[in-house]
Amino acid sequence: MSTLSTVPAPAFQEPAPTPVSLLLLGRGADPRSERGVECPGDLPPASDPDLVARAEAAKAELGDRLFVLGHHYQRDEVIRFADVTGDSFKLAQQAAARPEAEFIVFCGVHFMAESADILTSDAQRVILPDLAAGCSMADMATAEQVERCWERLEDLGIAERVVPVSYMNSSADIKAFTGRHGGTICTSSNAKRALEWAFGKGEAVLFLPDQHLGRNTAVRDMGYSLADCVVYNPHRPNGGLTDDELRNAKMILWRGHCSVHGRFTPECVDEVRERIPGVNVLVHPECRHEVVEKADYVGSTERIITLLNEAEPGSAWAIGTELNLVKRLAAEHPDKQIAFLDKSICYCSTMNRIDLPHLVWALEALAEGRVPNVIEVDADTAHYARVALEQMLALP
Ligand code: SF4
Repeated sequence: MSTLSTVPAPAFQEPAPTPVSLLLLGRGADPRSERGVECPGDLPPASDPDLVARAEAAKAELGDRLFVLGHHYQRDEVIRFADVTGDSFKLAQQAAARPEAEFIVFCGVHFMAESADILTSDAQRVILPDLAAGCSMADMATAEQVERCWERLEDLGIAERVVPVSYMNSSADIKAFTGRHGGTICTSSNAKRALEWAFGKGEAVLFLPDQHLGRNTAVRDMGYSLADCVVYNPHRPNGGLTDDELRNAKMILWRGHCSVHGRFTPECVDEVRERIPGVNVLVHPECRHEVVEKADYVGSTERIITLLNEAEPGSAWAIGTELNLVKRLAAEHPDKQIAFLDKSICYCSTMNRIDLPHLVWALEALAEGRVPNVIEVDADTAHYARVALEQMLALP
């Protein structure tokens, strides 16, 4: 047993390569994983000039039996067919509020479709147009890794005072783990309330899977210090942490991050301030702590949209979030100067997998009576995941 004292967690650690991240998207056959599986059948070619008309026709034929959800990070060519747009939790709630819709086509990524399946009735089928649309962050915490971490906390005798808090951007397995152990789900909008609740219930939090959202919320919004946070690395023996580091930590942060928001650097902020005098820098809390510290505003996707809706005409904004959304906001607000925080292109590659050919393929299959790419969470996992989601809805 080590007697090393707790040291401050570094603000960001690059992820170790994992077998999952090395898999080619669209290959393999593991529907319980975010890594994606084959997308069977012939896709219409992207060059087909009739794609828009084909999507409109299939949608019209399906009528109220169909409900199409579009995440804010989706391409314009797809989002135009969404009946509702939003962040992942809003979309799952919207699906649950439409029990007459037999088919929920989710234009987003795998964990979002799982959440929609968990919250909708058994009679509704949730369809992901491309099964290879996973999420690299969700893939960074597998059920086996998290169970191993929890066993370590149990061996140390501290598990009963640690409350798991899992970001919405996690697999159904991780949500179910959270529900089984008395924790809650959070979104980037309510992470502070979730942590306040958790610290009222226990003495420490295991935050999964996004280290940045956990650190930014605890340190920036709640007054904890970086020294209160440690990073559990599932690729290292014992998470790379000593017994005392785990015992003394207030925030045990899982070593996961978003590959899109993790790209923004403090230098990006310095560069844009030089390039656009007077610019307001607005970033998502999935960004690194050093970036958030330099920004003028920090907010969830919905908050970013609201802030820009309320911004003064003529004001200048540099936005640190997914590029499809930033481009759409720039087009919607021609009276404001809206720039992307990074100089290089930064789409979410898995979100971008849902393109118009995949959407047409899924809609036409449904119209022909076939139900492709159904996302189904098993009953036990769904039950405990729902427990954790309902705890989030009950947060004070
Ligand atoms: S933007 Fe980040 S968190 Fe969202 S789906 Fe893409 S990789 Fe996952």
